[in-house]
Amino acid sequence: MKPAKVRFIGDDEYHEGHFTKGQVYDAYFLEYWNGLRNSLHVMDNAGNIQDFKPLEDFEVLEDPDNLLSHAEAVVRCVGPTQRSRGGGVIHGEEYIAIGRDVDGLYLVKDCSDNCFFYPPDLFEVVSDPEHILDHLSLYYSAESGDILNNPTYFAHYYSANHKPELEQEQICGCFYCRKIFSSSEITEWVIADNPLDRRGTAICPYCGVDAVLGESSGFPITREFLSAMREKWFFGGHIPDDEDEIEAPKPEIGEVHYVTDDDPIE
Ligand SMILES: [Zn+2]
Repeated sequence: MKPAKVRFIGDDEYHEGHFTKGQVYDAYFLEYWNGLRNSLHVMDNAGNIQDFKPLEDFEVLEDPDNLLSHAEAVVRCVGPTQRSRGGGVIHGEEYIAIGRDVDGLYLVKDCSDNCFFYPPDLFEVVSDPEHILDHLSLYYSAESGDILNNPTYFAHYYSANHKPELEQEQICGCFYCRKIFSSSEITEWVIADNPLDRRGTAICPYCGVDAVLGESSGFPITREFLSAMREKWFFGGHIPDDEDEIEAPKPEIGEVHYVTDDDPIE
C-alpha cells in the first residue's frame, strides 16, 4: 500500500515547524477525534508520524490505496460491557469501527466519541460494506503505536499474506533461522481464512517457520536486520548476549495473535 500525498496548507507556527507551507507529505490514516473523523496521521519534516493533525490543514493530492477514506463498519458489542477511561462499550449497543491494527484489534469509536482498540471477539459485525475489517492495518498498533517509526514492527506486516509478491523471484530472509535464500525455494504456504494468511504466507524452507521477509517489502534482507527482527518477534525485544547459541521458542504456524494486555479496557 502506498501512503496518500497531502500538501500542508495550514499555519506553520501553529504546527511548531513540524510542517512547511506548500510542502507535500505522506499521510496514512484518518481517525475520529471528539466525534469528527478529521484527524490525520501524517509524517512530518523530521520523518516522524504526527497524529491528530486537523485534516483541514492539508490538501489531499492523491490517495491511490484509499487510506484516507471514510469507510466504516458497524459492530455490535456482544461481550460483556467494558468500562474504560471516559469511554467503553456497552453490551448490545452498536458502534462504528474504522479499522484493525496490525494484531487484529478493532479500532472502535466507543462511548467517549474517540477511537480505542478492542478485541474483535467482543463484537459481531453488523455491516461492513467496504470490507475494512477483513484486513489488518500496517500503520498502527495498539501495542507499539506508530509502527512506521519502528521498522521491525512495520516489516513484520510483510512477512505474511505475501504469496503474490514472492511468486516474483527475489531474495528472501527468514527472521527465525536467519537464512537468506531465493523465493523460488519456497514450496509451502499457509493459506487460511483469516486476515493474515488469506493471500498466502510463506513457510521458510530451512526451518519451517512462517517468518519470511522478501526484498519486495522494501526492508533490507541482511543478517543484521533479520537479527533485529528475530530479537523483536522471538525474544520479546530482549535478547541475551549469547543469542546465537540460544534457540528461540518455535511459534505455531498460522496462529493469529491478538494483543490483549495493552488495550484500553480497564
Ligand atoms: Zn527459517
